[in-house]
Amino acid sequence: MLLPILKYGAPELKRASSPVDFFNGQLERIVRNMTETMYAAPGIGLAAVQVGIELRLATVDLSVGEEKDQFMVICNPEVLSVEGEQKCEEGCLSIPEFSEAVVRPRRMIVKAQDLHGDELRIEADGLLARCLCHEIDHMNGVLFIDRLSALKRNLIRNKIRKLARSGEW
Ligand code: ZN
Repeated sequence: MLLPILKYGAPELKRASSPVDFFNGQLERIVRNMTETMYAAPGIGLAAVQVGIELRLATVDLSVGEEKDQFMVICNPEVLSVEGEQKCEEGCLSIPEFSEAVVRPRRMIVKAQDLHGDELRIEADGLLARCLCHEIDHMNGVLFIDRLSALKRNLIRNKIRKLARSGEW
């Protein structure tokens, strides 16, 4: 089932999500719907809060469904270490049509739980590191535009306000 993706301005996107504490059929259903929604968007990552489910949960697939082994369910991630820096264009399904260069760590090690509650240890670099940072930010109520300079952030906010006024947001 496709779920509606919340857009910038929705209060949920500013709130920190709660840990996932159930690993059962209910979680499987949520993940199935999130995955379908992520692929349809299309996107490489979707945090549960973006579909109004305030859990520390994200689906990630850098191949957008092309390669089975790229798909990941990430519950309750914890950043164990970060290294280096990368600056690249970043977008968000909740802020469609906007993208800006964001500084992120180049490499990171993340501990998380998978769909069954088993421990995952992810050694990520490049785009995967960027994507994990982005999704973990969502779980803490942070959007990529919060990581921009005030000038750039306000520019985007003003454009979104204009779109909202004309009913296009
Ligand atoms: Zn996002």
